[in-house]
Amino acid sequence: MSISSNLAQINQRIHAAAIKAERDPAAVHLVAVSKTRPSTDIIEAFQAGQTIFGENYIQELVPKLAEVTEAVKWHVIGHLQSNKVKYIAGQVALIHSVDRISLATEIDRQWGKLNKICDVLVQVNISGETSKSGTTEEGAIQLVRESALLPHIRVRGLMTMPPFFDDPEAARPFFAELRRLSEVVTALNISGVDMTELSMGMSGDFEAAIQEGATLVRIGTAIFGNR
Ligand SMILES: *Cc1c(COP(=O)(O)O)cnc(C)c1O
Repeated sequence: MSISSNLAQINQRIHAAAIKAERDPAAVHLVAVSKTRPSTDIIEAFQAGQTIFGENYIQELVPKLAEVTEAVKWHVIGHLQSNKVKYIAGQVALIHSVDRISLATEIDRQWGKLNKICDVLVQVNISGETSKSGTTEEGAIQLVRESALLPHIRVRGLMTMPPFFDDPEAARPFFAELRRLSEVVTALNISGVDMTELSMGMSGDFEAAIQEGATLVRIGTAIFGNR
């Protein structure tokens, strides 16, 4: 299958899942996860109408920033080391993976130098698996509060990555829990925090995530093929 036909099929499934959940399909955005894929694949997807691309590794993203001159929006979705932030300052639209205040502080510092504001999500490790990045649920509330005090950061929501299951229904409780946590944070009414985004759902389970309120689904293999 071609990238453009995969994209058409995924967009159709996103639309159907939103309708089934009685949600506005326009409220669910597709992040095409292009890690390990060449820039030519990204350009091909862009020409087929895809605008948001998610990358995990800064050393891979930096050359792509130069190679892809089309008006794509880059999202960082993988674990981010503070010492790499300077390479992407001002060049990405959203960072999904803020999981500690030291990282938030460095993003604030680098974006501050450019007099810009960086939109971020707080990554929560709902399952508590030690292999996964992310804060605890209590830690997330604290991190949102502390990040809200940084002038060049705007918290836009939460992100999670549940454990891998063969059955997408098994991931659903983790998605529901992220939404519940987001509602808890929203109710705190923290100044400067805008909890609109829920980044959850990947190739194998995005429909369940949409039913539980995802606004950003991160899909790689179902668009670009196996890595
Ligand atoms: C790789 C990756 C994805 C995409 O996974 P697929 O199963 O290929 O759709 C989504 N989110 C994160 C954080 C990833 O690292």
